Amino acid sequence: MEILKIDHLGIAVNSIDDGKTFWSDILGLKFEGAETVDTQKVTTAFFPVGESEVELLESTSPDGPVAKFIEKKGPGFQHVAFRVADIEAALEELKEKGIQLIDQKPRIGAGGAKIAFLHPKATGGVLVELCQRD
Ligand code: ZN
Repeated sequence: MEILKIDHLGIAVNSIDDGKTFWSDILGLKFEGAETVDTQKVTTAFFPVGESEVELLESTSPDGPVAKFIEKKGPGFQHVAFRVADIEAALEELKEKGIQLIDQKPRIGAGGAKIAFLHPKATGGVLVELCQRD
């Protein structure tokens, strides 16, 4: 598997508007607009940082994955996303290595990227996302 870079860090927030205060107003990262991904019950906002980005995630529903994460752990760091050259090949390789996956196949995330999550049980407790952008 070829991991190209850390694509982004995902941070769960109660509100993107509130989150922007720190990430944008204080740190000066550029807010590039928000996008709702209905299938994930989440609104995301990306802030480029050099070659990577910070992604804020706000749940659009109390039963969405981000709402459940905040309920259990509180707001804060939620996942790390690695950009890969070939996500299908990466998932096949991980399956062969016995790694538990949340997504057996890639799905379409924010910005039209192909994404898939690995189960935190298989990664020492870190939610890992793979993403491929063409
Ligand atoms: Zn992400």
